[in-house]
Amino acid sequence: MALPHPPTADVRDGHTGGTGSSPTRLAAPTDDLHAELSQITSALRARLDWLRIGGVDGCPLPAQRPARSVPPVTRSAPVTDMPRSGAPSSFQRPAAAAFHPNAPSPESAPSDDPAALARAAVEHASRYATRPQSAAPRAAVRPAAADSATAKGPSEIVYPELASLSPGENGLRVIRDFIGDCRRCNLCHGRNQLVFGEGNPAPWLAFVGEGPGADEDRTGLPFVGAAGDLLSKMIKAMGEHAQKLGFPELSARLSREQVYIANVVKCRPPGNRTPEADEIAACGGFVRAQLEVLRPRVIVALGRTPTQFLLQNAAPLGRLRGQFGDWHGVPVMPTYHPAYLLRTPSAKASVWDDLKLVILKLAEQSNLMPSGPQSST
Ligand code: URA
Repeated sequence: MALPHPPTADVRDGHTGGTGSSPTRLAAPTDDLHAELSQITSALRARLDWLRIGGVDGCPLPAQRPARSVPPVTRSAPVTDMPRSGAPSSFQRPAAAAFHPNAPSPESAPSDDPAALARAAVEHASRYATRPQSAAPRAAVRPAAADSATAKGPSEIVYPELASLSPGENGLRVIRDFIGDCRRCNLCHGRNQLVFGEGNPAPWLAFVGEGPGADEDRTGLPFVGAAGDLLSKMIKAMGEHAQKLGFPELSARLSREQVYIANVVKCRPPGNRTPEADEIAACGGFVRAQLEVLRPRVIVALGRTPTQFLLQNAAPLGRLRGQFGDWHGVPVMPTYHPAYLLRTPSAKASVWDDLKLVILKLAEQSNLMPSGPQSST
């Protein structure tokens, strides 16, 4: 919100600035100024109230909210609202107001209204998920088929052997066996271990990264280095937030063990470079088959490579993130890669906004949203 500059202590006889004259009296505010100040105060109060119940900063407020769902605003709210126990780190401390800045704590939220909180949050999110995020208009994310040929993401080889597999564990085993000691692209020459993916074979949420780094290449497991630690914290914070919103069943599905984590390419690109188009093409059919048998309710694409691949959209990540795209009927939330967050902690707030939308989408997809009167009643 653009605030007008208030009169300063230098206001003298109705003039701002100016040199040479001694201060005499502050200019009497006019009725107009009073009215304007009161409008600004109300708008700020409404914004703070909304943030208190988990709204996303920088977004339009819901038109109507029940007065009883709005706890009193205190200046210390954003800090005291942070998780107290097992607080994972950098994602949840001051820059980390960044990560979970506005989650309502059990103490501060009215005890009887998780449903109202959730409804208000969803109402808000449905506006946010389709709105431009900055003054510059953002292109809507469309399903792959609707994109123009010139803006498509990297393509993939479709392996007929991996079509129509049985869901879950069995399907994953067939894919792993099919990949075998893969020699389909040049990445095989530099790898120590192929990194297939890990997690619940029937997850609600799947994360797709770019490709293994050094730690993953050494261990054979996805996201185990510093970026992996941060991803674990992000997942944990999502579980905590789902709990606060009144979705214990969803919260139980939001742990490192309960989600599934895979990459677009299964072998480490030398020096952690971005995978080439032919490497993505050779490996892309594997992650496609994995997602088909996993059947997640929502996918989070971590970084540019999985975003452009899954959405078949070559637009920059900064333009795609924060809004759901579509992968064969599954909502995909593009967001920044944890490795980018390690270099750019200021981007954590945006990622947390994206992950809060994912929580609400999961609740919606899982029919957990409270029914009954809407939040404005
Ligand atoms: N970065 C990725 O994209 N994937 C991993 O598994 C690790 C780091």
